[in-house]
Order: sequence, then structure tokens, then C-alpha cells
Amino acid sequence: MKELDYSSWGLDTLLVHGNKLNSVSTSSGKPTVDPISTSTTYLHSNLETLDQAFSGISPSGEPAYVYARQGNPNAQALEKVLAHAEKGAGAVVFSSGMAAIHAAFLASGITPGSKILAAQDLYGPTIGMLRTIFVPIGVEVVLHDLCSADMNEIVKAEQPDVIYLETLSNPLTRVIDLDAISTIAKEVGAVSIVDSTFTTPYLVKPIEHGFDIVIHSATKYLGGHGDSTAGAVISTSNNVAEQLHGYATMLGAMLSPFDSYLITRGLKTLALRMERQCNNALEISQFLQKNKAVEHVHYPGLSSHPQHDLASRLLMNHRYGGLLAFELKEQNREAAFRFMDKLQLCLPATTLGDVYSEVSYPPISSHRNLTMSERNKIGITDGCIRLSVGIENVNDIIQDLDQALPG
Ligand SMILES: *Cc1c(COP(=O)(O)O)cnc(C)c1O
Repeated sequence: MKELDYSSWGLDTLLVHGNKLNSVSTSSGKPTVDPISTSTTYLHSNLETLDQAFSGISPSGEPAYVYARQGNPNAQALEKVLAHAEKGAGAVVFSSGMAAIHAAFLASGITPGSKILAAQDLYGPTIGMLRTIFVPIGVEVVLHDLCSADMNEIVKAEQPDVIYLETLSNPLTRVIDLDAISTIAKEVGAVSIVDSTFTTPYLVKPIEHGFDIVIHSATKYLGGHGDSTAGAVISTSNNVAEQLHGYATMLGAMLSPFDSYLITRGLKTLALRMERQCNNALEISQFLQKNKAVEHVHYPGLSSHPQHDLASRLLMNHRYGGLLAFELKEQNREAAFRFMDKLQLCLPATTLGDVYSEVSYPPISSHRNLTMSERNKIGITDGCIRLSVGIENVNDIIQDLDQALPG
């Protein structure tokens, strides 16, 4: 068969035809969808080939498997698609976004005495991991506002070994200048890591903006259907990818064949889902902005968003993501609960990126461990609601929000 030139494919084509990167030929006919290989162990024709299979390559040069924790065809197929989608050298998939983040920190080369500079408005459990796992082993962790105008001075003063951030902050959707961060990271010799869960390769490919390592909670948009927990790390370096694979194997944090299959399947519709979710989110944010019961809407697609211009430069496809936050005029927990309890279509779910619209109340979910004054300091009031916009008909979502908002 002719060699495919997938390097020229658009992301949508790559995601739909991703399994062609992983050509498994069988004499009985090649299935268009890769089968799920549930086997935990693999047999080889003789001990010579088994010996070679331990290295991961068969005598014919095809991938070889021995034991599922060390690698399986479904995880490997997903890794190939993700590496291409993010323009990385290699990808490794994990059993959750948190396992992916943990492995990425380990692979960044930190040792006792190293310093991690992280964005102050990170996903809560990531800050929890830094404090609970890395600080006690002697890693210094400093948090700063990396959207701030004196970001360059902060990085130069801190001289970190690793810079860690998220493409869009949760839940206020603040946008970080990836090019500026990667430039200053190189200048101070820091490894740059970004969690791109909210943006996906449909909106931004951080490696093209100079980042070393990209992380995803594939549980969210990549899977998209709320039926699989998974994570991924994509690296610009083959060595780092190999190291990550070693951690996944050693820590037993690799992704199962079935979950690898679900994420691979979800990816096929990522571009379509993102297109719809971003379009819906823009329309909904415009609706909310006009509503009397709403004080403020945080969405990078609105010209009122403080980083709207940066978002327009950074994000692709003229779209701004499927996530938004808004503040009720009545800024208290009772009003927020009343609103959320009245919703009929939008699900009160503590996740995001699914095909369904999902609302969450940060003070009891993602930002539960902060005090009210800590939350207020980063701009999250007690009237703040996060909305992850789904693929439903936008009029139905708007109608649901409208009937639940005080009239
Ligand atoms: C959900 C999430 C994670 C953690 O991923 P899990 O799959 O739940 O382990 C990390 N970062 C961000 C931005 C997330 O939204």
C-alpha cells in the first residue's frame, strides 16, 4: 500500500483517519476500527522473538507486546494520533489527567531543591498535588499570576526549573500568552509545561508556541462523552516520551485498552464537537451578557474580555472555547443554588467538555478548598457559575438558562 502523507492532513482528517497511522494488516481483512485487545499478555512464536518483543519491536519492525501494563495496541494507537495532533515527538496516555500531570512533573527532571513556578489559578487538584507530593520531597513551589504585565520580571526573579500553567484558567477563562511564556522559559532554562485540557489541539497546539510538554485530561473534550477517565502527555522530545512511558509502566498509571479505545473513538468527532460547543458558547455568552440577572460574563470570545485580542491571536479556527463563567447579580450561595436547582436541561456536573451542557458552582467544587477571601482574590465571587457548553441545540440551552435565572 502507498505510504500516506498524513503530515499535510487537517486536524479533523487526522482524527477521523488516525487508525491508519497504526497499520495492522491481517490476511482475513483489515477492520476499519481497531479491535480492543483486552489481553494482559502476548505470546510469541519462540523464545528468540519473545526476547526481542521485550524491547517493544518485532523482527519485522512492527510494534511487539508482552504484557499490557508495558504497552498495548489500543493505547499505542491513541498515542500516535495524539502525538501527530499536537505536533509532538511522542505521546503517552495515562489512566487519568492527574496521573499524566504527575508523570510530566517527574519527567521534567525536578529533584530536591528544584523550583516549580506555576500559575496561581491552576486546577485545584494540581495545586494539591504540588503541595502534597512535591513540596515534602524538597521541591520549591511558587504560584504567581502569569497573566500579569510583569510576568517576565517574575520569571527572571524566580529563576524556576519548571514553568507550569493552563491555556485557559478555570473558571474565569483568563488567557495566557503562550509565546511570551515559552520565550522567557527558554531564556531562564526552564522546562515549560502546559495543561491544554480546555483548548484541545482544535484551538491551540502549544508545541507550535514553543512549549516542551503538553498535558490533557482526556476525560474532558478529547473523550467528550463522559464515559472514560484518561490523561495524556505529549512531548517534543523522544527521550522524554520514553521516560514518560517508563513512569506509566512503573507506576501502573497506563491507560487500559478499553479506555484507550473510547478516547480514540471520541477523538474522531473532536473537531465537530468543538466547532459546535464554541459556537454555542459564544451565543450563550452574548445572551447572558444582556440578561438583567447577570452581573458579568467571562468568555474570551466577548470583546469585553480583558484578553480578547490575545485570545484572537492565539486560538485557531476563529473560536474561543466551550467554557464560560458568569456572575449572578445576587452574589451569594443561596441565589446560585436556586438557579442551579431550577435548571432542567443543563446538568449540575463537576466535569466539563462533554456533549451535554454542564454547570458547576466553583465555591463548592473546583475551588472548595479555598477560603472565601482567597476565592475573591482570584476573582471568583459567590455568585460565580461555570458553564461547560454542550452540543445541544443552542436555543434549548438558552431557554433552560433563561427560565432558571430570576426574571
Ligand atoms: C479535570 C482536569 C484535570 C484532571 O484530570 P482527571 O482526568 O480528572 O484526572 C487536570 N487539569 C484540568 C484543567 C482539568 O480540567
